[in-house]
Amino acid sequence: MVTGDASYIKKINRALIIREILKEGKISRADLSKITALTRATISAQVADLLEEELVVETELEHNPVGRKPIMLSLNAQAGYALGIDLDAGQATFMLSDLTGQPVATDIIPIQAKTYKDIVQLLASSIRRYQSQCAGSRYGMVGIVLAVHGLVSNEEKIKFVPRFQWQDVDLKQDLERAVGTVIHLENNANLSAFAERAYAHHTTDNLLCVTLYSGIGLGMIMDGKFFRGHEGFAGEIGHMIVVPGGEPCACGNRGCWEKYASETSVLRNILAAEPDEASNYEWIGRRIAEGDAQVLDALNQFIYYLSIGLNNVINMYNPDVVVIDSELLRVIPNSLQSIQNQLHSQISHYREITLSGMGRKSCVMGACALAISRFLGVPVLSLPSGDDLAD
Ligand SMILES: [Zn+2]
Repeated sequence: MVTGDASYIKKINRALIIREILKEGKISRADLSKITALTRATISAQVADLLEEELVVETELEHNPVGRKPIMLSLNAQAGYALGIDLDAGQATFMLSDLTGQPVATDIIPIQAKTYKDIVQLLASSIRRYQSQCAGSRYGMVGIVLAVHGLVSNEEKIKFVPRFQWQDVDLKQDLERAVGTVIHLENNANLSAFAERAYAHHTTDNLLCVTLYSGIGLGMIMDGKFFRGHEGFAGEIGHMIVVPGGEPCACGNRGCWEKYASETSVLRNILAAEPDEASNYEWIGRRIAEGDAQVLDALNQFIYYLSIGLNNVINMYNPDVVVIDSELLRVIPNSLQSIQNQLHSQISHYREITLSGMGRKSCVMGACALAISRFLGVPVLSLPSGDDLAD
């Protein structure tokens, strides 16, 4: 149908325009027309809509050396807010961002030794607090995305979360009932992969993001979309067996990759105690500088097992870009080079392997970015990375 086509094209053009405005920060109508190859008339009509919706604002460029000051367009960052929640072992991290994905508030609440019901109540009361915080803006809370470190089905139901031992719980429904608004659930590693593309601007449609914190997750963007598998459970790579009959894992198997190459496992081995992440990276950095043989040996083992798993992942997916999200690797000198040296198989092919510059925040930032992406109708976002985002 012609009308259907016209509205579809209008939607595509709108997404293209918003994407460029976000990417450039400030841009004139003339430059938008050049970059998008859309006519001036199309740009004008679309921008008029966006101005009326208060999603875009006009500003005059202050220092134009010659002629008339051009009117610049930028996204109205304060028109609404997105809430990302990272529900990890022991704590829930909240990040409220503006519409350009920049954090305006963050909060961490401990959830150690709490029942499912208690956790739902804790999450709901925080969500309500954030909702009232942005109630005065044009669109209020535009989206809430919660990261789950476990199996989330295509219907956004939780199948299994090893660290909480949750099986078949409908957290989405329970939270939505408690707060009276739509909440989306997404696997944590997928959100980290989304954040890498949105904030670190990896220009690729085939990106793998391996997260190495409390467990090991694999976020996959294949052909521009999340790769989820048949039911949504793809990417549980931390439970790939790398040591037959090895250490027992919460999943019920032995010798899983994350028992050897997640940060929690490595730090636990080094410190022989439950790690206190806040200071451990510095402590490990000092031991490395002093040449502590025990620590160096443990870290070599970490890189060894990490490389075994990465070799398998790369062989399976032939990715364009592989991002490894680990703060510990950033403390170890030349860690990326050491990994690459161990990926020497002639079968393993990838274009680029890199360490994430975002660290643990990537998951919650990806959650905000995904909420913004859905609200604005822009599937591939390019958000300002901001000085405070890279550490
Ligand atoms: Zn396992």
